[in-house]
Amino acid sequence: MTTVFVALGSNLDNPRRQIERAISALAKHPQLHRVEISPLYSSQAIGPGAQPDYCNAVAQLDTDLEPEPLLDLLQAQEDQQGRVRTERWGPRTLDLDIVLYGQRSVHSARLSIPHPRLHERAFVLLPLADLTGNQLLIKGKTVSQLLEKCTDHGMVKRLEV
Ligand code: AMP
Repeated sequence: MTTVFVALGSNLDNPRRQIERAISALAKHPQLHRVEISPLYSSQAIGPGAQPDYCNAVAQLDTDLEPEPLLDLLQAQEDQQGRVRTERWGPRTLDLDIVLYGQRSVHSARLSIPHPRLHERAFVLLPLADLTGNQLLIKGKTVSQLLEKCTDHGMVKRLEV
């Protein structure tokens, strides 16, 4: 079993409901175990043009799935929730990214793990810190060390329960 962190994001069609629906699908999936979810956050979009704010969260889970089958499962859930793959960084009903897969580095045509923009995204680092405190090391750095260098805190706020 490997412990995996998955980042969830949505900025279309009631983003908070999209995130809650994805969380419930992950929690129920028979190949995903001990699924824990961070608090929800809201973040300003960094993609092209004016876009609605995102709702974000991070899930921690255990799985026996290898990275690519796990990506297939996550993309099937994106499709299930009406994801249309158009422009890069365009608005989306659901985005599921594998942020960390145990201590493993993966570099294939379909996957880069650890996620290459993890260290510059407060909307992933803040929920990751909520889940793990400061236990986790990412390329030898703690989450709070990464957050100190991260400049987009101002664009991210925690949502009320
Ligand atoms: P996005 O538009 O951000 O959802 O990017 C989608 C593409 O990113 C997918 O087709 C994946 O093959 C690729 N990708 C690369 N690394 C990752 C990762 N760590 N998690 C999820 N998707 C990834």
